[in-house]
Amino acid sequence: MQLLKDKIKAEGLALSDQILKVDSFLNHQMDPVLMKEIGKEFAERFNEEGITKVLTIESSGIGPGLMAALELNVPMIFARKKKSLTLSEGLLTATVYSYTKKETNTITVSTNYIESGDRVLIIDDFLANGQAALGLMEICEKAGASVQGIGIVIEKAFQDGGAQLRKQGVRVESLARIQALQQGSITFVEESLV
Ligand code: 5GP
Repeated sequence: MQLLKDKIKAEGLALSDQILKVDSFLNHQMDPVLMKEIGKEFAERFNEEGITKVLTIESSGIGPGLMAALELNVPMIFARKKKSLTLSEGLLTATVYSYTKKETNTITVSTNYIESGDRVLIIDDFLANGQAALGLMEICEKAGASVQGIGIVIEKAFQDGGAQLRKQGVRVESLARIQALQQGSITFVEESLV
């Protein structure tokens, strides 16, 4: 998605050869106009899949997840990373190791919101080692729902999450795929190779 790639080029900061900082439009401040376009792009790509729910994870998945859900005209659910006082019974859980924070979280979704028969589109901001996506897939499996696809805003293609998920036969659509990061330079996977 050219608009997104231009934004990453203009405002993204390669903190190291592993981590990309995009706090100005995705991970801290959010650009609503860009989020709207991202939502439209995901909706177009998954339009034929009969999606009934969008599932994401707090907090940075909520912006793109909500915009995709708006375009697809379905509810959006975000998995919680911390225990909620009001959410104690009927929980679907999975364990997720956070790559950026170097911590393990038990993520939860209420059984009220994902049901057997749901056709779920999983959305997340980044794809690195695939832990978050795998945790969300586990939650869908426990609910008896099917995962129709995974939509990722920025995939770091040099880490193996994307390959692992695709190997499992899951459709993964990433709007920008990064080939390499070096301090001061960001290289994208050539579109023709995507
Ligand atoms: P994974 O679970 O695929 O290993 O990592 C995905 C999660 O880690 C995303 O939800 C995102 O929050 C975070 N993440 C991984 N790599 C990066 C990165 O380079 N930059 C930022 N901002 N977040 C990242």
